[in-house]
Amino acid sequence: MARNYYETLGISRDAPRDEIKKAYKRLAKQYHPDLNKDAGAAEKLKEINEAASVLCDDKKRANYDRFGTASEGFTAGTGGFDFRDFSNFDFDFDNIFDSFFGSSFGRAQGQRRMHRGSDLNIEIEISLKGAAFGVKKRITLTRLDKCAECNGSGSRDNSLETCPDCNGRGVVKQTIRTPFGMVSTSTTCRRCSGQGRIITNPCKACDGRGRVKRNRKLEVEIPAGIEDGSNLRIAGEGEAGEHGAPAGDLYIRISIKPDDVFERQGNDVWLNANIPFTVAALGGSIKLPTLDGEAELKIPAGTQAGTVFRMRGNGIGALHGGARGSQNVRISIAVPESLSRRQRELLLEFEGLSKSKNYSVDAKKGFFDRIKGAFNE
Ligand SMILES: [Zn+2]
Ligand SMILES: [Zn+2]
Repeated sequence: MARNYYETLGISRDAPRDEIKKAYKRLAKQYHPDLNKDAGAAEKLKEINEAASVLCDDKKRANYDRFGTASEGFTAGTGGFDFRDFSNFDFDFDNIFDSFFGSSFGRAQGQRRMHRGSDLNIEIEISLKGAAFGVKKRITLTRLDKCAECNGSGSRDNSLETCPDCNGRGVVKQTIRTPFGMVSTSTTCRRCSGQGRIITNPCKACDGRGRVKRNRKLEVEIPAGIEDGSNLRIAGEGEAGEHGAPAGDLYIRISIKPDDVFERQGNDVWLNANIPFTVAALGGSIKLPTLDGEAELKIPAGTQAGTVFRMRGNGIGALHGGARGSQNVRISIAVPESLSRRQRELLLEFEGLSKSKNYSVDAKKGFFDRIKGAFNE
C-alpha cells in the first residue's frame, strides 16, 4: 500500500502528535458511517484509522518515515481497528478518542441519565396600566405534559424491570479493539437509554414515553412595577421530563406597549399638560388624566412654562411592594392663535399696564435648572 499517511490526514511531515490527534478526530467525525452516508466513507475511515495508528506510534512512524512502511511485523489495515465497532458506542467522539489515545475510560459508571424537561419561552404584551397595577393574563401553551394515564412513568401498570443489558447500571462496559490495542470503554446502555430499567408494559396513551402533547391553559400573574423586557420565570411550567423526570421552567418575556399619553421613567410617569396662558397667569385648576382616572391639578398663579408638578402616588407600583411612583406633569403654555376683537382690546389694555415690553434674557442663571424640572409641589 503506497498510500501517504500524511496526506490522508492532511498534515505535514513534521506535525506533532497533538496535530495528528486533532486531524484524526476531525476526519473520523467527517467520515464516520453513522454520519456520512456517502459510498466510500467507510473505506476512507479505514484509511484514516490506518494512518493515525501508524503516525501516533513513534516507532512505527519512524519506520514509516524511513522505509515507507510501518514495520515488518505491522501490516497496515489488518488486525487493526475495525470501524464497525463504532456502532456499539454511545456516539461520543471525545470518549472514543480518549479511549484511543489515553487514559480516560469514558463516562463514570452507574451514572443514570435523567433528562429534565425543556424550558419554554413565550412573550406577553401588557399595557402601561398593567405594569402600574399588576395584571393577570390567561395564556395557552402547547407543550409536552406528563402523561396522566401513567403519571409519567411510561408504564401501564408501573411495572419496571431491571435492564438486562446493563444490569440496571445504565452503562455498558465494552472491550474493543483499536489500533492501539484492547481498550475498555463505558457507554450509555442503548436498550434503556441509560435509565437502568425498562418498561415491560408500555402505556398506550404515551407509547411508553411518559409525556403527551397538550394544550394547557395557565393564568399568569404579572406583578406591578414590572419593567419592559424583563423575564418572569415560572418554575415547573415548562415541558415535562422524560420518564417522570422534573419539568422545565416557563420563561415569560414581558413587553410593555408604549402608551399614548404617559411616558414611563422608572416608577414615575410623565405627562405634558398644555394649559391656557390665562390659567398660567391667574392660577386655577385643570383636569387631566392619571393612571387611576381623571384628576384635578391646581395651578398656582404665575406658573411658568416648563414647570413640573409632581403628583405623588399616581405613578407605577413598586415591584416588591412599597409606595407607588409619581405622575410628573410638565407645563407648557398655550397662546391663542387668533383673538376676537374684544380679546385683542383687553390684551392691548393689559399690555399698556405692563411695566416692560422687552424680553429678558435668563439663559445664564436658573434657566437650565428650570427646564430640567424644578419641582413645584
Ligand atoms: Zn402514559
Ligand atoms: Zn440498560
